[in-house]
Amino acid sequence: MVSGKRKQANEEAKLEKMRHSAAHVMAEAVLSLFPEAKFGIGPAIENGFYYDFDLPRSLSPDDLPAIENKMAEIIAAGKPFVREEVDKGEARNFFAAQPYKLELLEEIPDDTVSLYRQGSFVDLCRGPHLNSSGEIKVFKLVSIAGAYWRGDEHNPMLQRIYGVAFLTKVSLDEHLKKLEAAARRDHRKLGKELDLFSIHEEAGPGLVHWHPKGAVVRRIIEDFWRGEHIRRGYDIVYTPHIAKLDLWKTSGHWEFYRDYLYGPMNVDGQEYIIKPMNCLGHILIYKTRQRSYRELPLRFAELGTVYRYERSGVLHGLSRVRGFTQDDAHIFCRFDQLEDEVVGVLKLALFMVKSFGFTSYQVFLSTRPEKYAGTIQVWEEATETLKRALARVRLDYDVDPGQGVFYGPKIDIKFEAWQGPTIQVDFNLPQRFNVTYIGEDNKEHLVAMVHRTVLGSMERFLASLIEHYGGLFPVWLAPVQVVVIPIADRHLDYAHKLADELKTEGVRVEVDARSETVNLKIRQAQLDKIPYMLVVGDKEVKSATVSVRLRSGEELPPESLASFKENIRKAIIDRAST
Ligand SMILES: [Zn+2]
Ligand SMILES: [Zn+2]
Repeated sequence: MVSGKRKQANEEAKLEKMRHSAAHVMAEAVLSLFPEAKFGIGPAIENGFYYDFDLPRSLSPDDLPAIENKMAEIIAAGKPFVREEVDKGEARNFFAAQPYKLELLEEIPDDTVSLYRQGSFVDLCRGPHLNSSGEIKVFKLVSIAGAYWRGDEHNPMLQRIYGVAFLTKVSLDEHLKKLEAAARRDHRKLGKELDLFSIHEEAGPGLVHWHPKGAVVRRIIEDFWRGEHIRRGYDIVYTPHIAKLDLWKTSGHWEFYRDYLYGPMNVDGQEYIIKPMNCLGHILIYKTRQRSYRELPLRFAELGTVYRYERSGVLHGLSRVRGFTQDDAHIFCRFDQLEDEVVGVLKLALFMVKSFGFTSYQVFLSTRPEKYAGTIQVWEEATETLKRALARVRLDYDVDPGQGVFYGPKIDIKFEAWQGPTIQVDFNLPQRFNVTYIGEDNKEHLVAMVHRTVLGSMERFLASLIEHYGGLFPVWLAPVQVVVIPIADRHLDYAHKLADELKTEGVRVEVDARSETVNLKIRQAQLDKIPYMLVVGDKEVKSATVSVRLRSGEELPPESLASFKENIRKAIIDRAST
């Protein structure tokens, strides 16, 4: 075991050296094509490398083959990587025409720095590198992206070229295949193809418009969400989208999150902002009257739309947006109820997650950071409470020490491509807003407050869900569940009769009445990823049956409409996964 692990670590180190060396080789290739290029940084990353360049013109994917060819020449020439140590003054002279390198140089505390030279290219670099460019096995340049120098939008935008590098052609091909598959499942691409949503430059970046079909999927999920919450003792509430700035000053949001807030705007001489979260509205509802310990816990849930400023550079389809709807809830309870409440949220979260077919996840418990609200004692107690709750639902977890938010410890259930549910205890807001109840002792006590989301936001969740299913929504979520395809016009009446009967059952059904060939209609239904196609012709009309075809191409034997109705009804109610 140990030697296996060591071998793997060796391999990783070797790969990283090769990938970082490939970045230098790419820089040399770019320098030979653009002698006036300025260089940012060029690290190794997972599967490959990148380098940031300041170039006299914008690159396009058409530029990549020329750069690749140059790189291949450099690799074939087997140029050695030579390390040199120079003092800082010398390095400053050397990089006089490279402003980004000069900036990096100033941040190095040592008096001497190391340079790596291969061919005509010299970089400020700690290393390590391969002995020679000839040791780079297989590589490919894959994409170009804009990247602010040091990730700061106030800095110039550089052009970043991404490449991948592997030890064998087989692993490169495997990786490229994976990239291709991911691109096919990209929710932005599928969102367009399946007519689910759009984002408009005219309306503003990061603001999502849900089309009828996308809205169906979202509404079904929201209905499911509401039903489950009501069943588990939540009360659904609604709160306004704007509120007086003073409220956000009391909460501390204005002080700490100002950069993310829209507004203020002036209404009747008062300043208002657009809400970045739903918590305060729920607190105001709680505080409309004195609460007794007997009323607790109170669980207020809202599909609350909030707006937060995100830099335009990080916006991405549905997964990074400026306006989004959180599946939010706040639980107000006594501290002795906290454990049961967290168990309840965990069970709800795991149930919802499973209903959408997500299986592998990791659970994290984040503990007290350096700066925190409340006392060490309440932090310790709450953290222990969360641990007991996790144990009760038999969840394995990792502790993320010091990674809690300043106001309380939290539990995150994380997925590979989705942020997942989060549960946070809050010692801050109850204090700031004096959120209390009258205890059995007739005294006033601060409540224990829990913020929690299960899906996160509808937007981000839908992004993950579209990619998770590759657009093949299971029948309970599919925007159109059944398409009836008449073979000829004389079968239209029967087709409409079938559709009407299914509609009365609540099935989302369409008739493809176009005068096109059956094959073309089937092809279209497959592209639209509709779960069931009912092809009807003379045989079906005469025997009063349906012939079901699945989007996978599989054809089922003819059956009566009654039996088809029963099957689809069951698949919907069971939230069957196909
Ligand atoms: Zn380097
Ligand atoms: Zn909240």
